[in-house]
Amino acid sequence: MRSRPPVILELRGACRVYGAGPTAVTALRDVDLAIETGEHVAIVGPSGSGKSTCLNILGCLDAPTSGLALIDGWEIARAGPERAGPDERAQIRRDTIGFVFQSPQLIAGMTALANVELPLVYRRVPRAERTRRAREALTMVGLADRTMHRPQELSGGQQQRVAIARAMVGRPRVLIADEPTAALDTRTGDTILALLTELNRRSGVALVIVTHDRAIAAAAPRIVTFRDGRLVSDATQGYGADVA
Ligand code: ADP
Ligand code: MG
Repeated sequence: MRSRPPVILELRGACRVYGAGPTAVTALRDVDLAIETGEHVAIVGPSGSGKSTCLNILGCLDAPTSGLALIDGWEIARAGPERAGPDERAQIRRDTIGFVFQSPQLIAGMTALANVELPLVYRRVPRAERTRRAREALTMVGLADRTMHRPQELSGGQQQRVAIARAMVGRPRVLIADEPTAALDTRTGDTILALLTELNRRSGVALVIVTHDRAIAAAAPRIVTFRDGRLVSDATQGYGADVA
């Protein structure tokens, strides 16, 4: 018998209202969602349905207006005065989660290696180890021969690979990706998706990926659908030979 893998990230009754008064927008309504170790989850839904809001709260970049956000069962973002401060939240987030966004957001003057090392600089990892781990991460994304290139010397897909290496270099347990292929052509997007899927399978990092590309969603064993800020479906599909 195999026990159920432990939950890493969880939302309980999470709501998020932006602004106040007559112009307030309710972006997330009473969402319950749990992400388990090693999972691969796709989040889909129309534009404006609350996907990014959900990811930001799940990843502790933002706190719910009401309800709970938990990491390893610990409440890290609560509405109200007793919530964790931004510094605390930042540290827990850094140790647990890697982020990939639509745009790679690399620092222009710095080499790929230096960009990937950056999260380790903030963590005060010694230089030699930093370089070794950054090289390792760049090798993992297929860019071992591009370490000294600067972002402007790399293609869009290669830049996104550097961003993925930067997200993985801290050895996170969850990789959160918000439309990581939206700015790329279909073929390049497919290779980035294949890379993310491979990282999930090989390193066991849980992958939570927002997309409105049906093909990308179909590759995930679990698909969560949002509409008007509500989680309207959470479906696990058969995974064929992979779970046999
Ligand atoms: P999605 O990622 O599914 O496109 P979002 O989570 O970005 O949806 O947005 C959900 C709703 O919240 C939308 O109506 C959007 O306009 C609104 N919204 C998102 N971010 C903000 C913000 N910072 N301030 C005000 N409204 C926001
Ligand atoms: Mg979005």
